[in-house]
Amino acid sequence: MSEPKADLPRRGVMLVLSSPSGAGKSTLSRAVLDTDDNIELSISATTRAKRMSEADGVHYHFMSQRQFEAMRDQGELLEWAEVHGNFYGTPRAPVEAALARGEDILFDIDWQGTLQLYESSREDVVSIFVLPPSGAELKVRLERRAEDDAETIAKRLSNAKTELTHWSEYDYVIVNDDLERALAGVRSILAAERLKRARSPGLSDFVDGLIADL
Ligand code: 5GP
Repeated sequence: MSEPKADLPRRGVMLVLSSPSGAGKSTLSRAVLDTDDNIELSISATTRAKRMSEADGVHYHFMSQRQFEAMRDQGELLEWAEVHGNFYGTPRAPVEAALARGEDILFDIDWQGTLQLYESSREDVVSIFVLPPSGAELKVRLERRAEDDAETIAKRLSNAKTELTHWSEYDYVIVNDDLERALAGVRSILAAERLKRARSPGLSDFVDGLIADL
């Protein structure tokens, strides 16, 4: 009798988290990454200046516009977009390598990037839009971010309005009024999506084996 294989290989989940700046998406992402061994962050390339609290190769791959355009023109980016006047893009190779290993990847990207991932990999993408509890709260969170100057904050507020209009293009929507609850929501979505029948191409053989064993 063949042993049932409980850990069937499956296709990785491309988990996209988007939100306007200040809705708490980074905190949520960090919490998911810190507590789940099977998901890793897609580290984006960007032309924006590094913040004091950031490290190159950890939060982003910081680069010049020339370097970014070279990557983009050589097809090395899975998606890219201009956000807040800077370029951001997802390096293709690490994503493909992680998915091939059966690992899930978390993308912290905007709506423009999400739509591009839908075009290239809709069946693997699971997208979540994170909403702030209120407009007033979002404003406070953006203003509290001491690292940004007044002009940047104003730009981010105006971009938040645009970003918010894209909520309905996402598979799931979470209102981040309480971090623990929002986190539980993300974890539930990930757990359910990992069990999707279409992600385990080996299921058919597995069930055939089960039947044959009866
Ligand atoms: P920040 O400059 O605050 O780190 O990020 C600004 C915005 O750019 C965020 O909404 C973030 O999700 C988005 N972003 C970061 N990396 C990428 C990327 O690789 N592609 C796209 N399309 N957006 C990104």
